[in-house]
Amino acid sequence: MESAQRKMIVGGNWKSNGTVQSIKDLVNDVLNKAEFDTERVEVIVAPISIHIASVKALLKENVKVAAQNVSETGNGAFTGEISAEQLKDFDVQWTYIGHSERRNVFGETDAQVANKVAKAQSVGLNAIVCIGEHLEQREAGETNMVLKKMLDAFKDSVKDWSKIVIAYEPVWAIGTGKTASPAIAEETHKYIRSWVKENVSEEVANGMRIQYGGSVTAATAPELISQPNIDGFLVGGASLKAEFKDIITAMNNSESTA
Ligand code: PEP
Repeated sequence: MESAQRKMIVGGNWKSNGTVQSIKDLVNDVLNKAEFDTERVEVIVAPISIHIASVKALLKENVKVAAQNVSETGNGAFTGEISAEQLKDFDVQWTYIGHSERRNVFGETDAQVANKVAKAQSVGLNAIVCIGEHLEQREAGETNMVLKKMLDAFKDSVKDWSKIVIAYEPVWAIGTGKTASPAIAEETHKYIRSWVKENVSEEVANGMRIQYGGSVTAATAPELISQPNIDGFLVGGASLKAEFKDIITAMNNSESTA
């Protein structure tokens, strides 16, 4: 499968932001006004968990809702956790796993990421699994090694690769205003796709959607999305603004897919 056949995918990560009113405004004024072809672009947004119900109710059908995180446990005596089963039961079809802030602020380990992937897979939940290197690691030439370790760690948790999207998010680019250059992002996405080819199969590698995340804006999106191995974005800050609509439009109008 050529890149032309991979449906682009953009996720908005609202992190721990928003009020009942601001999120309502964002849905009505931005997301529900975005025009795009759902055959070309898949759009997903991740509100905080207590906003999921209202966002689902307000959104038009062309945008899906994701959880920002999922528990590595099942249901039971695990205070504060939301299980994969509960997301599925609530008709939430997507979750992010291993976001940089989960890993670096809350100390989530590769082993926990692997458990979460296994839980998501066990109920058929789609997961966007995030990986990325720190600046010192890139400067030391360790990027591919770091990414390989993160990918190796959850590989055996996956039974159905069609329910996995990989988000490459260099830690140095998240929330810093320093978007990776298209060349750097493309080179790294190419490495990730080669890992999938070597460790899973050529077919899965060709179909795998790999998002770039890290200070994506409406200005940087067009050139990034034109790279052959970049299939979409994970967007933090800009997904809370009207600009998110422009990022969706840039994807919809890009020539990287047929
Ligand atoms: C993110 O939260 O995954 C992210 C990429 O944030 P930002 O776009 O603000 O860098």
